[in-house]
Amino acid sequence: MQDDATQADHLQRFIFDSAAVRGEWIQLRQTWQTVKAQRDYPPAVASVLGELLAAAALLAETVKLDGRLVLQCRSEGPVSLLMVECTSDHTLRGLANWQDDIADDADLQTMLAGGTLVLTIEQNGVKQPYQGVVSIDENSVAGALETYFARSEQLHTRIWLHTDQQTAGGLMLQQLPEQDPNKIDEDWRRLNHLAATLTRDELLQLDAVTLLHRLFHEETVRLLSTTMLEFACTCSRQRVADTIKLLGKAEADDILQENGYVELACEFCNTHYQFDEVDVAGLFSDPMTIQSDSKTLH
Ligand SMILES: [Zn+2]
Repeated sequence: MQDDATQADHLQRFIFDSAAVRGEWIQLRQTWQTVKAQRDYPPAVASVLGELLAAAALLAETVKLDGRLVLQCRSEGPVSLLMVECTSDHTLRGLANWQDDIADDADLQTMLAGGTLVLTIEQNGVKQPYQGVVSIDENSVAGALETYFARSEQLHTRIWLHTDQQTAGGLMLQQLPEQDPNKIDEDWRRLNHLAATLTRDELLQLDAVTLLHRLFHEETVRLLSTTMLEFACTCSRQRVADTIKLLGKAEADDILQENGYVELACEFCNTHYQFDEVDVAGLFSDPMTIQSDSKTLH
């Protein structure tokens, strides 16, 4: 058995010897702390953000990802946007936008009233991303995702997600294709019955080996690969430059006149990118002109 610290920010895949079911367990600590520290999130919003972060990593592991997987909730409610991203480099980032005061015990239906959860998978080299949408009719992120899997993938999937100040944790069980429909139903019922005792504290505090033994000690569980995850942002000065170009020269010049520079901050990692007059002029000049200018300087 490993102690908690060595398992922090790990995803553990596992299978059962006697059932066509696969599983994944995740605990995020450092990554979760970093995402949460970017803004002063109300506790109820932070809680959903953490669950979504753990969920994105669980889902990314179920597809052969070479690119990025994004989970996005949009709503007319007080939380207008929740977005998390997991890349095939096993990095995570996420943010939430909200208005007004949000009660500590606000539920998902209130925060994301009339909202939808969109799953996007962008594979490198594939033009059209995969997109799946489910309306948030359940009162939990896990419930919404289970509905999504039942409708679009036709795969029985159970997901448990919990967060506290230190940890975002998740557990997932998913059916694998099996020839015998009676056996698969029976296996699924048995494993779900065993996992139904899972508590929030167990998910957030126990390491994978201890938890799986506690839930499934009557089964033979085989641990497969472990994935380490970390926070990383994919923003760059070049991407911000592209955003300023989209803004247009007139708008950029206005900001320059007012502030002396154009500054944009990345909403995911709070990195501030500053462009002065010379930088902005460079963005809007013809590359050929820059070349001939630099020649005359030499
Ligand atoms: Zn960033």
